[in-house]
Amino acid sequence: MAVPLCRNLCLGRLGRTCTLVTGDNLPKQGQPETLQAALFGLCPRCGEKTLFRTFVGFADTCRACGLDYRSYNVGDGPAAFLTLIIGALICALALTLEVFVKPPFWVHALLWTPVTVAAVFGALRVSKGALLVLEHKNEAHEGQLVDAEDEGS
Ligand SMILES: [Zn+2]
Repeated sequence: MAVPLCRNLCLGRLGRTCTLVTGDNLPKQGQPETLQAALFGLCPRCGEKTLFRTFVGFADTCRACGLDYRSYNVGDGPAAFLTLIIGALICALALTLEVFVKPPFWVHALLWTPVTVAAVFGALRVSKGALLVLEHKNEAHEGQLVDAEDEGS
């Protein structure tokens, strides 16, 4: 499992400016906000609607500006969180329905199966998009070991 990291985190380096974390070195014009890009599948660099090739699958590159989406590693983080969060919400809703209405079992099966699938896929698309956009905006990459001599320069 890969964990995206900013390679110049300021932990333990008080007093030093960290441009990667603050984002001062990033161009600001034409870039959509994170939520807007995640909701509508917009490229984090140019704002064109090119982020997704399928409903939850990223395109390889942006057709408008050429940004390589394959260089970002969203991983399985969103799926694990969504399984827990949506599972808890659906269980709470199903229990509430059972307590107050007491419908037959087939109503639960017919109702909660499509609701669960739609909620997972919808939330997965938005959360994957948000993570990729945040990776781009923060220039996050996988952690790398740095020699002590290189770090001083
Ligand atoms: Zn683009």
